[in-house]
Amino acid sequence: MTKQTVGYVDLEWTCPNCGNRNPGTAIKCVTCGNPQPDSVEFEAGASGELLTDEEKIARAQAGPDVACPYCGTRNLATAERCKQCGGDLQGGEQREAGRVVGAYRPGAGPPIVCDNCGSENPATATKCANCGAPLGKPVREPEPKPAKPAGSGMPRWLIPAIIGVIVLCIGFFAVQSLRRSQDVVEVQGVQWQRRILVEALVPVTRSDWEDQLPAGAEAVQCKQQVRRTSQNPEPNSVEVCGTPYIVDTGTGVGEVVKDCEYEVYDSYCDYRTLAWVAAPVVVASGTDYSPHWPEAVLDNDQREAGREETYSVILGGDGETYRMSVRNLEQLQEYQPGSRWRVEVNGFGNVVDIQPAR
Ligand SMILES: [Zn+2]
Ligand SMILES: [Zn+2]
Ligand SMILES: [Zn+2]
Repeated sequence: MTKQTVGYVDLEWTCPNCGNRNPGTAIKCVTCGNPQPDSVEFEAGASGELLTDEEKIARAQAGPDVACPYCGTRNLATAERCKQCGGDLQGGEQREAGRVVGAYRPGAGPPIVCDNCGSENPATATKCANCGAPLGKPVREPEPKPAKPAGSGMPRWLIPAIIGVIVLCIGFFAVQSLRRSQDVVEVQGVQWQRRILVEALVPVTRSDWEDQLPAGAEAVQCKQQVRRTSQNPEPNSVEVCGTPYIVDTGTGVGEVVKDCEYEVYDSYCDYRTLAWVAAPVVVASGTDYSPHWPEAVLDNDQREAGREETYSVILGGDGETYRMSVRNLEQLQEYQPGSRWRVEVNGFGNVVDIQPAR
């Protein structure tokens, strides 16, 4: 983030003695003469206008005011002697600066209604024009939030309904997988399948930054896209700044600043290249005990990408048929046709336990 100065605005402070709002640069309350307290908290002024007064701007740029070590009077950072008592300002304490006063809102605030007589006064007024009573801070409407488009968003009942359905599903699944029934079954047959996975080298479209394209790849189409952000301006970058805000400079004048960074654009391209992608699988299957691998006849632009084999046993009994997977041929051979087994079956019809039947 880089800080940029937008301009300067008047701050103000409220007199703790009489409640009058005073210009930030006033060292005494303009109504009761009470000195500006050391611990004063400046607030954003009501005018919202950027200052054009060179003297005030120079003052804000000079640095925080210095309190006279003898009488406490605030003096400009550039002063050498106290304007009140003439004391040497060397060693005088500088006011604190750098606090964020608030968001900067251009333009004057809404009118202020006098608490005393009810008449309206302009935002910049500190005293009621009608009765002379001190006026409080103008109350600004909060920034309007972007309205939600009508019809978007979920109805209120939808989330509980979805949770309900999920709970029911989990419950059903748990009950079915815990349910057990027993059966005596006979091996009715076996099935095996062996597959050779194949990949083929084919032209595909991929995307990447132009300087990352693989050698020989040809860019089909490129567009400018934000690649990264930078603290400093760079070639092909766009400045992006946050909302301006006011910082206390310790002088009664606020500096309006904005934090900016730079979105650096670069060329992002679609390009054509060759890539290995899945091609149709070559399959052999059978219902015997001597499985074999299929014969894969591969073209020049094809390659083998792995082998898979599955074996299952078909068990029948009591009007039910179960299919049970086994890991390999060795296990498959344990289930000879006509052999009898005692099985435990869950609610989904899956065999969860199998023992030879006596
Ligand atoms: Zn006062
Ligand atoms: Zn002094
Ligand atoms: Zn009034």
